[in-house]
Amino acid sequence: MFLFLLSCSTVPITGRKRMNVVKDSQILPASFAQYEGFLKENKLSTNSSKTNEIQNVGIKISKSVDRFMRANGMLNEANSYRWEFNLIEDNTVNAWCMPGGKVVFYTGILPICANTDGIAAVMGHEVAHAFAKHGQERMTSAYGQQLGGIAVAIGTNNKDPKTKALWNTIYGVGSSVGMLAYSRTHETEADKLGMVFMIMAGYKPEEAINVWIRMSERASSGKAPPEFLSTHPSNQTRIQNLKNYLPTAVTLAKKYNAQ
Ligand SMILES: [Zn+2]
Repeated sequence: MFLFLLSCSTVPITGRKRMNVVKDSQILPASFAQYEGFLKENKLSTNSSKTNEIQNVGIKISKSVDRFMRANGMLNEANSYRWEFNLIEDNTVNAWCMPGGKVVFYTGILPICANTDGIAAVMGHEVAHAFAKHGQERMTSAYGQQLGGIAVAIGTNNKDPKTKALWNTIYGVGSSVGMLAYSRTHETEADKLGMVFMIMAGYKPEEAINVWIRMSERASSGKAPPEFLSTHPSNQTRIQNLKNYLPTAVTLAKKYNAQ
């Protein structure tokens, strides 16, 4: 049997207090197994220039996150990440990052990204969810005690349909309806952190605002709303918050790049 203790910690940069039951040592092997399973079951894009673009942006942003972690007492975490960036051939409008830096973009989200800075905005945002451990926090609040067993089960048998479905729900993987939406708190936090990381990596933060404008235009266009929107609701408040935060993000990025 396993015992799990609730522990309180602080999200770096934003300073928000959070509760987590799952340790990295439990969740990371599970995450890596889930990611490997996902790649086997889905089709990688054969568009090498788009794939390279995703990977280049991912590498630059992950280097910024890594630099931040090493300069701010997160050495163990920095060493345990296994960054990976893949582009999946799929019209689903989605992107996600599993714990430990395992990122997937779907080709369906590329028109909303529109350009390299737009890719960096989505990359920064998704990496920020993993950096701030929002998935683990969701697991903690939504599934409580059953979770530890689930994490272990996923780590040891990534083919079990029930644990896999739960994992996908929590991390926004795939195209199924009924994915769990990130809370407004988590979305705002990922927007802020993502903006800092994209600026640290040398991208234009204004494009983050444009991405969310395109996302909400797509939602109101009468076409089926993007899957990404069901987990990442976009609206005027969100867009305004990004505009308001931009100067702070620029200041923080400068400070962390100088560390
Ligand atoms: Zn999000």
